[in-house]
Amino acid sequence: MKTTKPPPQSAPPLIGAHMSTAGGMALAIDRALSVDCTAMQIFVKNNMQWFAAAPFTEAELRAFHEHPRRGELRSVFGHSGYLINLAAVNPDFAEKSRRALADELARADQLRLPFLVLHPGAHMGAGEEAGLQKIVAGLDEVFAKLPQVKTRVALETTAGQGTSLGHTFEELAWILAHSAHPERLCVCADTAHLFAAGFDLSTEAGTRETFERFDRVIGLERLVAVHCNDSKVGLGSRVDRHEHLGKGKIGLAPFRFLMRDPRFAAIPKVLETPKGKEMEEDRVNLGILRELATATPRKTPSQRSSP
Ligand SMILES: [Zn+2]
Ligand SMILES: [Zn+2]
Repeated sequence: MKTTKPPPQSAPPLIGAHMSTAGGMALAIDRALSVDCTAMQIFVKNNMQWFAAAPFTEAELRAFHEHPRRGELRSVFGHSGYLINLAAVNPDFAEKSRRALADELARADQLRLPFLVLHPGAHMGAGEEAGLQKIVAGLDEVFAKLPQVKTRVALETTAGQGTSLGHTFEELAWILAHSAHPERLCVCADTAHLFAAGFDLSTEAGTRETFERFDRVIGLERLVAVHCNDSKVGLGSRVDRHEHLGKGKIGLAPFRFLMRDPRFAAIPKVLETPKGKEMEEDRVNLGILRELATATPRKTPSQRSSP
């Protein structure tokens, strides 16, 4: 009988990527584990269609929940479909958006996901206040319709492209403050969106300032996930184009900060960067995050000479 305790081990970092559910929800688990994820994000139905073709079958849900390696993913959460716009002006789109969100939230709950990430919406010219009011009303209606559902909605910070709302922390705070169910809402931060929205994450100081501001305006206790993406486009461009880590206009500063600050240790950090079928790109990007978590910062000659 062993009497000695194993040496204390710190858990591997909570990192992962968005995974395809093609072929069944359970297959996403295999894909995530094949590139050594400890967290993953999934769509709960085809993301480019309004509604799921069919409800989940018992067999599909069982395959997901009873997957022998399900427990190796310490965080699994959903992202809602791209057609949903709770601030839509067109009454048909507005009604469909609410129904689609309710449908997805119920599916996410069947998968026992803790939250479903949602882009708050685009006001389509109606103005920011009118748009925010519609978003709050839409969320209230969806939550009221699903009293038993435990899955929360995580409002994502947006790039502010077009008339998209949620590119300032104040807009997200407004939604939280006016919601009838703030306890059912949380927030997901996307590094590429933040940068495009004008938050300078290209330095450690800028990243620290951004999350201090997040804490003041929204509260860090609301933060449930971070999308780790570099940006193809510049600071404040208000365009949403993801790039591989360290290959874009942001660089590695925010990822180093997020991987090392203990306040973010329990927050899943998930990639939404382009990849092929073999997902080699995910391996590379996850390797960068792992290295940033442990390696001591090195000043390379090129870094020293850069402006
Ligand atoms: Zn998103
Ligand atoms: Zn994102």
